[in-house]
Amino acid sequence: MLDNKANLLNYVNGAWVQSPGAEYLNVTNPATAEVLGCVPLTAADEVDRAASSAAAAFPAWRRVPAPARIQYLFKLKNLLDANFEDLSRTITMENGKTLDDARGEMRRAIENVEVACGIPTMMMGDFSEDVAPGVDEYMIRQPVGVAAILCPFNFPGMIPFWYLPYALACGNTVIVKPSERTPITMQKVFRLLEEVQLPKGVANLVNGGAATVNALLDHPAIHAVTFVGSTPVARHVYSRAAANGKRVQAQGGAKNALIVLPDADVTMTTNIVTDSAFGNAGQRCLAASLAVTVGDADRIFRPVLAEAASARVVGYGLDPGVQMGPVITPESRARIQGLINKGIEEGAEVVVDGRDAVIQGYERGNFLRPTVLDRVKPGSTIAKTEIFGPVLGLMHVDTVEEAVQLVNSGVYGNMACVFTTSGAAARKFRYEADAGNVGINIGVAAPMAFFPFSGWKNSFFGTLHAQGKHAVEFFTQTKVVVERWLTEWSRKF
Ligand code: NAD
Repeated sequence: MLDNKANLLNYVNGAWVQSPGAEYLNVTNPATAEVLGCVPLTAADEVDRAASSAAAAFPAWRRVPAPARIQYLFKLKNLLDANFEDLSRTITMENGKTLDDARGEMRRAIENVEVACGIPTMMMGDFSEDVAPGVDEYMIRQPVGVAAILCPFNFPGMIPFWYLPYALACGNTVIVKPSERTPITMQKVFRLLEEVQLPKGVANLVNGGAATVNALLDHPAIHAVTFVGSTPVARHVYSRAAANGKRVQAQGGAKNALIVLPDADVTMTTNIVTDSAFGNAGQRCLAASLAVTVGDADRIFRPVLAEAASARVVGYGLDPGVQMGPVITPESRARIQGLINKGIEEGAEVVVDGRDAVIQGYERGNFLRPTVLDRVKPGSTIAKTEIFGPVLGLMHVDTVEEAVQLVNSGVYGNMACVFTTSGAAARKFRYEADAGNVGINIGVAAPMAFFPFSGWKNSFFGTLHAQGKHAVEFFTQTKVVVERWLTEWSRKF
């Protein structure tokens, strides 16, 4: 197993390799400030070795029949199950989320492996007989080639699995680049991939930051790029990869609003909204950032949301009973504190103030407590900016129409949710919300592995999304064959 204090390694062409001459960054437990390991910022020449080995492995791997390719995934699933607890604890240690959240994340990762085991069916083509006399036409799906999978810090276990199992099962070879802030989970996953004994070069792991990403985006042997991270970087990755002729999908940031109607169930809604806002310390792309109360919901929900936020137990995610961990870095904490200050300057009222959190025993951790800001002004910084921290802004409107308008006025479109007991209001919202993931009495509308993770607007650049059938389409190219065979019958035409 990985020695946690050691330099992390890359996995290239079936071997663990030190990154020669690379600079290293500390990987730090955000709750304790303990250094867990050092991650190499891989330079372009080593990216080239990884891309070349993935390209060299591709012709043989694509010829392995799909039913045989998925046997590796069945083995991987069993190994992920067997190492579930260790992987979940690793996520908590490097990311800070609670162990329960980390387990949920790994469960989602495994579900994607399970869905990708259906590739022999999911990759099937279409056949049309007699498109002209004696002529048949069919479409087959073939793998794209080498895929680069670029990941953010906030789901170090799950997000690589939105892509990895589909890419492999479709016959592609891959290079995974985890976030340099949370690279240890993938280091462990690749130990499991090693046990699965994929052919050399089929799955590669390259660590690093922006320069490593850019080397991957520019490498001519890479044909497909997936990215999940912040919107400015998503935009950069999308345009640079596309300019280099690659197919690319880039999922970006978010500013998710939840609408609460006066008829919503009070206890359920309060629990769900606060879980959404403060789970993973607000560091989810599906975190509730704004709650828009409609009419009398202001009076009903303001006090109970504040009470639930104040009651949240903050601490180290491995400790029992903890409901919220730290944010990822001291810089992140300072940025979030700055945004709260800005919100107050802009006229928001502090209902719950989580800026100065000190957790006994974890004084060096990057902790904040939940913060609730009321009377957030439309158009203000705090109303528009992705905070990516445990801050819930409250806004109030008189009608559902105004609430939908407010939700749709933002530049992001990752998620929008409504809380109500009215079917008509829910349908109107589902129909009109400009967001790709919609929740109805759900606060984190994360699609299951067999549905696409459907961001819109500035939350997504591309056409095909992560997971399920979209991933199969993304990792395959279609080939259409028109075929004539002369027969006695077709000779007559
Ligand atoms: P980030 O954009 O800082 O980093 C993501 C990846 O890009 C990392 O691998 C990093 O090494 C690389 N990178 C960073 N700067 C770069 C640059 N200038 N050029 C090239 N590569 C660069 O994102 P993060 O802080 O790791 O993750 C948080 C963000 O991800 C939030 O905005 C969140 O909303 C978003 N996110 C979106 C989704 C989604 O599905 N839409 C899911 C999870 C997270």
